[in-house]
Amino acid sequence: MARYGVRRIFLDRGVMGDPVAEGILSESGEIPVVLVNGPQEVARRLSTFEDPLGEGKHSLLITRQRGDFVKGCPGTHNHICCRYQIINLVVNCPIDCSYCILQGYLNNPAITIYINIEELFAQVEEKLSGDPGRVFRLGTGELGDSLAFDGMTRFSTALVPFFAEKANVIFELKTKTDEVDNLLDLDHRGKTVISWSVNPEKLIAEEERSASTLEERLVAAEKCQQEGYPIGLHFDPLIYYPEWERDYRGVIEKIFERIDGKGIIWISLGGFRFPPYLKPIIRNRFPASKILWGELFPGNDGKFRYLKSLRVEMYRKIVGWLRDYEPNLFIYLCMESQEVWEKVFGWSPKNNGALDHLFAQRVRSFSSACDRFSILSLDRK
Ligand code: SF4
Repeated sequence: MARYGVRRIFLDRGVMGDPVAEGILSESGEIPVVLVNGPQEVARRLSTFEDPLGEGKHSLLITRQRGDFVKGCPGTHNHICCRYQIINLVVNCPIDCSYCILQGYLNNPAITIYINIEELFAQVEEKLSGDPGRVFRLGTGELGDSLAFDGMTRFSTALVPFFAEKANVIFELKTKTDEVDNLLDLDHRGKTVISWSVNPEKLIAEEERSASTLEERLVAAEKCQQEGYPIGLHFDPLIYYPEWERDYRGVIEKIFERIDGKGIIWISLGGFRFPPYLKPIIRNRFPASKILWGELFPGNDGKFRYLKSLRVEMYRKIVGWLRDYEPNLFIYLCMESQEVWEKVFGWSPKNNGALDHLFAQRVRSFSSACDRFSILSLDRK
């Protein structure tokens, strides 16, 4: 946690005395605590800084979630999406990626930690029991990093055992850190996937400020695999630059030096893409960044992407390099069209529901094929 340089904790008066909030504060050492009257006051205070987004990366807000914890991934129009469910327990993150869409998406720049985890569990129970025949995939890593502050919140020690008991769900913690110490002794029963976003070290150093190095992430992944967790990998965003082939091949080589491919439950590929509002933010906050140098064009969902031919070439090559190591990997594309799926794999899911179904099959076949890694016991209705 020290490496993230937290400068202040805003404590919502409404959660003073709450045992979860007190537990987090007791782990926070000497960080000054400022009492506030809710998230809007925090947003107002941070707006007075020259770089509110940057200052927000050094500011925690401890408060209560007043809305729904669980939401469907918004996906994107006219593209295949996988019906993933997002849990908003910690929103925003201390890592500062130049390409992060949250920079223009959140209305509060602070890293917000919600302490009413019991309400989250009640909402999840309701969702799972409302559709017992479906295999849900839920994760905390879409609007923040799942583990960056786990040393302080210890949320994983409640989440992992909770999901270990549930029949029709698989839960994912997604991170760019090596903060896995809390996970290693938990009784996960193979129901929690620990996932890492991966990129070449050069890009991590240039575009993912404060994130762990690739080597650190893979050492952490190796530890989790030794404890039987299914491992996920996300090549997202894939970034084009002249040496991309050499460098991404190097990433894949390093992955398989440490990770047994049979214990990888899924791998996603997603080319760099961004909504138009992000361009001026990247230029302003990361003037040295090179990610906007490539040729990027708006697609029919309004987001800028590399040319389709380039994306297909990158995906195909990466799929090939991965399958050279492990032919049976489950690899999917994030936010791509049916046409791109066809060109990369020679087939495409017909729609979002079909992809969701494939994930359910994957989870079930992984559980039966990988006793060594997982003791998943999903309801086979
Ligand atoms: S780790 Fe994820 S949430 Fe955090 S800044 Fe990077 S892209 Fe955004």
